[in-house]
Amino acid sequence: GGENGKGRSEQATVCCYCGTGCGVLASAEGGRITAVRGDPAHPANFGRLCTKGSTLHLAAAPGGRALYPKLRDARAIVGITAATTPRRRVGWDAALDTAAERFADIIRRHGPDAVAFYISGQLLTEDYYVFNKLARALVGTNNIDSNSRLCMSSAVSGYKATLGADSVPTCYEDIALADHLLIAGANPAWAHPIVFRRIEDARRANPDVSLTVVDPRRTETAELADLHLQIAPGSDVLLYNAMLHVLLAEGLVDQDFIRDHTSGFEALQAQLGSCTPGEVAAACGLPAAQIVEAARRFGRARAALSLWCQGLNQSHHGTANNAALIHLHLASGHIARPGAGPFSLTGQPNAMGGREVGALATLLPGHRNVDDAADRAELARLWNIPALPAAPGLAAVQLFEALAAGRVKAVWIACTNPAQSLPDQARVRAALAQAEFVVLQEAFADTETAAYADLLLPAASWGEKSGTVTNSERRVSRVRALVPPPGEARPDWVIVADFARRLATRLGRDAAAFDWRDEAAVFAEHASLTAGRDCDMSGLSHAVLERDGPQQWPFPAGAQRGTARLFQDKRFATADGRARFAPIGFPVAHALLPEPVDARHPFVLTTGRLRDHWHGMSRTGKVAALWGHTPRAEVVLNPANIAAHGLEVGELVRIANPRGELVLPLAADTGIAAGQAWIPMHWGSASLAQPGANALTSPAVDPASRQPALKQAAVAIKPARLP
Ligand code: SF4
Repeated sequence: GGENGKGRSEQATVCCYCGTGCGVLASAEGGRITAVRGDPAHPANFGRLCTKGSTLHLAAAPGGRALYPKLRDARAIVGITAATTPRRRVGWDAALDTAAERFADIIRRHGPDAVAFYISGQLLTEDYYVFNKLARALVGTNNIDSNSRLCMSSAVSGYKATLGADSVPTCYEDIALADHLLIAGANPAWAHPIVFRRIEDARRANPDVSLTVVDPRRTETAELADLHLQIAPGSDVLLYNAMLHVLLAEGLVDQDFIRDHTSGFEALQAQLGSCTPGEVAAACGLPAAQIVEAARRFGRARAALSLWCQGLNQSHHGTANNAALIHLHLASGHIARPGAGPFSLTGQPNAMGGREVGALATLLPGHRNVDDAADRAELARLWNIPALPAAPGLAAVQLFEALAAGRVKAVWIACTNPAQSLPDQARVRAALAQAEFVVLQEAFADTETAAYADLLLPAASWGEKSGTVTNSERRVSRVRALVPPPGEARPDWVIVADFARRLATRLGRDAAAFDWRDEAAVFAEHASLTAGRDCDMSGLSHAVLERDGPQQWPFPAGAQRGTARLFQDKRFATADGRARFAPIGFPVAHALLPEPVDARHPFVLTTGRLRDHWHGMSRTGKVAALWGHTPRAEVVLNPANIAAHGLEVGELVRIANPRGELVLPLAADTGIAAGQAWIPMHWGSASLAQPGANALTSPAVDPASRQPALKQAAVAIKPARLP
């Protein structure tokens, strides 16, 4: 901290929105956060902030906060609509004792897998760690998953399939060192604006840096591209395989790299057979010449860097999409050197931290895996417990399906809003409505999910809690508290540790395993579990971060600084050190879209972010300055479709499929291809008085990553005046 010249104390912390992880200097006065500016010393942003980050102080004390623990004595929830049975204010002891009693009772009667935890990429690493230890080590279930499942789990499985570990090999500095940038299924101009500033800087500094953008929409990012591939939704895997075919046909592969540092190339090459640009052009909705051009730009580059996000990940073949893109890097040797490599962007501020602590159903701390007996045994020893559960845990969509089916009786939700953000919203709400016991640990009392909570626990929010986050480039930064939480709200890890001790007592287990002096002690325990792993941060501590500033892992014990890039010795995280060309079953064994369009549902719906809003708008929706850019939710169609379907711009239309419907004003945009429809993801019942985009989205998941295909659903669009 320090003085900012106006007599206010200024603290270095991190923006709580996107995974760019920008450093923020925040000022507080009289118990309120009064100003923010970009931290010039933070390597993620060097002082810059986007519109969302620069209004953090205006969102820091919004209305709608949860202030006191509140308990509903009797469930009176009908259908999928929460009834108005009031919750009454209770003290923390009563709240947590009740929760411990209910969870212990359900665990005794139905076993540990009858409870589940659904948490968030917006929690701090310390929060995440305590939740994970509670679920695995105390309750004995792998039923803990995170909303990061909706965001980057296909990138995790794509990296593991090819590089051998969930290790993003690149860093932000590579943007300035590449001479070719491939942005795939991402709109960083809006979703990662400070990353995008770097891309603009790189192209300004060197006009020879070429940019290819792959996106079904002509976004603000695509506007800047030298080559925009306006791909048909769902056809990504075909495009990247066809690009690989071109690299091979035109001698643009790095045979030495393939021979010395990879495995599986011949098998993939055999599978590629007929995957020529001409063969896939129609399915991709692209001229074959554009595919050839994209491949040549990639293959002929000195250093090619690819950046991607939800367009690849939120697909029922998201792992294949990720692997196919990474294959381009392996085949052409655009990896393991500065300026070259694959770089998945994380959506949420601490999605990466959640991966490190293993807060996904399939993972364990330190990038260990639930399905690896040696990993489980090692962690059981480190946690000093007899064994870890081996039964696979339920991932997000499955978790709420199990809740609906009664296999899971109680769910503890933290810092996320599944009643709005999961696909097929009606099913999720029905599941919450008929659960035996729902706990919601939240900063905000006015989310869609809050209506279903039997117990609402008030959590501290940004600026009120302390810990760490890890951004897209593996950089761990300190997040700091500037003001006390409002009412009786508490930091998330404190709530969970308190609950865990009470539950341990009731289950006859060791409560001391959940006794930490402070968040630095939680981090120290977490970091110690990563020793020797690919994400080794055993040399990091809150004290080191205080002294030396944000650091990238690996940061093993004894290291003086973090590691900017991985695999620079061209040894990958596989058993033989070779990166793998993954056998991905090409041609894709199933349909490119999770559900085909038909005469009744002729539009492919895609969803996405706006520039100035974040997730369900719990924060950004309360900042007047952020409403100027896009003041209302609309459904956007290509003008040709509007005319052909007898619709009019501005009229209210009904967007529907068997899962649900929305009524929105209609807008026209030539940047949307014919046959597609686009709506922003941010609105929901709380802001729109009707369900949001996820009333319509598909619950189909990728079989490997279990990430849902949120980007594609078949819908009908008709004038709202007609039945
Ligand atoms: Fe915050 Fe992301 Fe904007 Fe940076 S780019 S200020 S992390 S929202």
